[in-house]
Amino acid sequence: MGEAAQQSYPTATLYIVATPIGNVTDISVRALHILGMVDAVACEDTRNTGNLLTRFGLSRPMISAHQHNEREVADKIIVRLLAGERIALVSDAGTPGVSDPGARIVDAVRAAGLRVVPVPGASAAVTALSASGLVNDQFYFIGFLPAKARQRETALLQLLTVSATLVFYEAPHRILDCVEALVGVFQPERQVVFARELTKLFEEIHRCPLSEALAWVKADAHREKGEYVVLLEGAASGGDAEAADAERILNILLAECSVKQAANLTAQITGRKKNALYERALEIKGAQD
Ligand code: SAM
Repeated sequence: MGEAAQQSYPTATLYIVATPIGNVTDISVRALHILGMVDAVACEDTRNTGNLLTRFGLSRPMISAHQHNEREVADKIIVRLLAGERIALVSDAGTPGVSDPGARIVDAVRAAGLRVVPVPGASAAVTALSASGLVNDQFYFIGFLPAKARQRETALLQLLTVSATLVFYEAPHRILDCVEALVGVFQPERQVVFARELTKLFEEIHRCPLSEALAWVKADAHREKGEYVVLLEGAASGGDAEAADAERILNILLAECSVKQAANLTAQITGRKKNALYERALEIKGAQD
């Protein structure tokens, strides 16, 4: 703590402080120093953050800042910062603004010309990626998929040709829906990584082909609960893989749309030629009739 105390902490500044995603000791020395010295801590849930502060023997005034009041709270925070205060912003877990409230407050504070200082720490996405063993320099953070099945499928179809590792967050109790949707859209050979309850007592990190994913989740009732990051290997580049993806998209869309619409949409998603897709769609339809 000594070194953290010697650093400078400008006034009239909003500090964006990452907090643990499970293991309470995953908090930085700098974060603790800042949480102990700010004039107030803006947080999603005052009870949660109060518990975290208490664990470290800290006590600070709190401001409730959740997704339904971000704009109004931002105005109040700006008034206090203009008066020279230091304010910390935290979310319930991990990094504020990452599938969590915070971005609107940061936007407003920056627009008011005030200083914003990030204090980095845990984020479930990066934690999962670091232990996944998926070798890819690029990742595409999606966060939560839509809850409704049709919208979820549409969102996934748009990701079919992305070559970066895909990173999903899933709400507790929805993992089965998520996996079923992935299985319905992506090639069964793609590798999937389930990062469950990271940094907690029952942490599990499991990697398998998508074809085995449903069986893994169903093999233990506990796996249908808990917090998950799901990583999916990106699309392989090359003629065969891309052609197979186009064929998959065409088949999925043909179940819902006309031959023309399915061919047009597949062309938009994959960048492949509309005419060839139209011919192929006619063949598929012909074989089905
Ligand atoms: N701001 C957080 C971050 O930086 O990762 C994310 C908050 S978001 C509301 C919560 C989601 O993050 C969970 O539904 C889950 O997908 C993921 N998550 C958070 N903690 C996790 C953990 N310990 N293990 C696995 N996933 C976690």
